[in-house]
Amino acid sequence: MPVFYDTHAHLDYPDFQVDFPQTIERAQAAGITKLISIGTDLESSRHAIQLAEQYACVYAVAGWHPNDALAAPDDLRAVLRELAKHPKVVAIGETGLDYYRLPGSKNPAVSPDEDALVKARQAQIFQQQLEVAAETGLNVVIHQRGDCLEDTLKIFAPFAGKVRGVFHCFASAAATMQRILTLGSIVSFTGIVTFKNGQNVRDTLAATPLGSFMLETDCPFLAPIPYRGKRCEPAYVKEISETVAQVKGCSLEELSRATCETTHHFFPKLR
Ligand SMILES: [Zn+2]
Repeated sequence: MPVFYDTHAHLDYPDFQVDFPQTIERAQAAGITKLISIGTDLESSRHAIQLAEQYACVYAVAGWHPNDALAAPDDLRAVLRELAKHPKVVAIGETGLDYYRLPGSKNPAVSPDEDALVKARQAQIFQQQLEVAAETGLNVVIHQRGDCLEDTLKIFAPFAGKVRGVFHCFASAAATMQRILTLGSIVSFTGIVTFKNGQNVRDTLAATPLGSFMLETDCPFLAPIPYRGKRCEPAYVKEISETVAQVKGCSLEELSRATCETTHHFFPKLR
């Protein structure tokens, strides 16, 4: 059976509390042999590390998500440096920018100043996480949503020689993917590639060379067809891999080899 990894899962989410051991078993049975649980704040990062200590197949990424930027401590660096020392913390994140869920996007009464403040905080904690990544020799898991690509690349570019990013849940155009690859970074694809309305993502995937992308679920979100709308879980990388192999016109074995190798190269602490 071809083996795949789930490189972006939120296993600390309450969605998995009821049947966590079974979730892991279903993943293993589907050939999804390594799972990377992504922290969204310090508590969630510590929870991910705890799961990694309990389960041999689980690894952790420690960081602070841009959507919770206002709740972040002024300076994240010292505590992140400590977490990064853990043998199973394989990267920093998830970090990046999100202009899709700014306060003003939900409520037109919010003053533009408030959105500007949130953007500045997002940029500041993104920068801090890139600094820790550069110091500790780890790569970063990057979230970018909404109209923030240029700002994301502007903050990331000075680190490009030292740190690689995975632009996760990638759904942008092939030209954007090319810019990311030029910076030495990579992308990863979710179950969106299986969606009926996911043709633009399949087009980008078709243009992305094997060796430059990884697979992920972003569970509990974004369950692939035929589970769309249900809770997503790591086992569903199997369904994602089948669509990806079709789009790439390669065998599952080839896809397994390429994506696993890319994942080990991106997360050198993954064993
Ligand atoms: Zn995520």
